[in-house]
Amino acid sequence: MIPYGRQEILDADIEAVVAVLRSDFLTQGPAVPRFEAALATYCGAGQAVVVNSATAALHIACAALGLGPGDLLWTSPITFVASANCGLYCGADVDFVDINAETANLCPRALETKLRAARAAGRLPKIVIPVHLTGEPCDMEAIWALSEEYGFAVVEDASHAIGAWRAGAPVGRGRSAAVVFSFHPVKIVTTGEGGAVVTDDAELARRMHLLRSHGITRDPAFMTHDPDGAWYYQQVDLGFNYRMTDLQAALGASQMTRLDAYVERRQALARRYDALLADLPVRPLRRDPANRSALHLYVVRVGGGGKGPDRSVVFDRLRARGIGVNVHYIPVPSQPYYRARGFDPAHYPNAQAYYAEAISLPLFPTLTEAQQDTVVSALREALSV
Ligand SMILES: *Cc1c(COP(=O)(O)O)cnc(C)c1O
Repeated sequence: MIPYGRQEILDADIEAVVAVLRSDFLTQGPAVPRFEAALATYCGAGQAVVVNSATAALHIACAALGLGPGDLLWTSPITFVASANCGLYCGADVDFVDINAETANLCPRALETKLRAARAAGRLPKIVIPVHLTGEPCDMEAIWALSEEYGFAVVEDASHAIGAWRAGAPVGRGRSAAVVFSFHPVKIVTTGEGGAVVTDDAELARRMHLLRSHGITRDPAFMTHDPDGAWYYQQVDLGFNYRMTDLQAALGASQMTRLDAYVERRQALARRYDALLADLPVRPLRRDPANRSALHLYVVRVGGGGKGPDRSVVFDRLRARGIGVNVHYIPVPSQPYYRARGFDPAHYPNAQAYYAEAISLPLFPTLTEAQQDTVVSALREALSV
């Protein structure tokens, strides 16, 4: 089976992890701040806070921004469930803004329409989470302009998009309150499990550091009274254990040295797919030539307009030929948990239409051109009636 994504682990990664295993600290040691510094430097952001998953990163970003009961969080219906669940973890309500049909990213025009209606109804969102689907950056200038007009905070779910650039700046820099990355093995760089938040807001970073580790501080400046002694710590908030280990952080820092090479390789393979698929009845998602997508995924739409077999047939035929295709994503509002909370996927027609046709082809840095040719010829056969 050619998988849709997989990690690359080199000897340098293994040596970095083994060095931690031989050191004094397996967790809460120096590898974590070193990885945080590498992330902040790459993104040109003030600070990075690493945690044990992007799901945890989304949670602490929302919590540190003060999201709570009675508040509203909006995100895209075409994303992994974690982009919405983080709002529910905080006791807030969530809702979805339909996607742009060409890019499958949250549509700024749909956002504006929904914001106008929300203002009229007297209930605006506190946080909006755009998702850079496949690693293609969203139209952030439009979303930031709306955030200033309507007063919501932007948390970018950049789980697919470390190493992506827009308007000459890496994803992670800009006017969002926080930007979240995932280091799951199928993503661009990996720590096994892991995530991070980058932000320019030092106070927000401080609150996220607290939430990452039980709400406990050892800094007398943030205690309610002088320390009882050198052993003393205070719990000043209700936090979690969302810490990343030093083993993971060392792996992440080692992987970061290859981030640009990975994205360039993904770009080259994607351009090769574009060319090889040009005469087939499939439509790749639109990529803005002014962006550098991180190309976490290469998604094509098949079966539109009743021409040829539909997506499910093509999917089964490809899997039967050992091509590990996947579907990203099932619209979140159609999940039973969300339906039970009153969501109706029919309210997001672009998301529904996209879901009916989307298929993710294998794409990862070590995919060979020969493997890619195998994928394309299997797809050609799968599309024949
Ligand atoms: C992978 C992913 C997440 C969750 O990441 P974890 O690190 O597995 O918690 C969240 N949002 C999106 C869009 C993702 O692809």
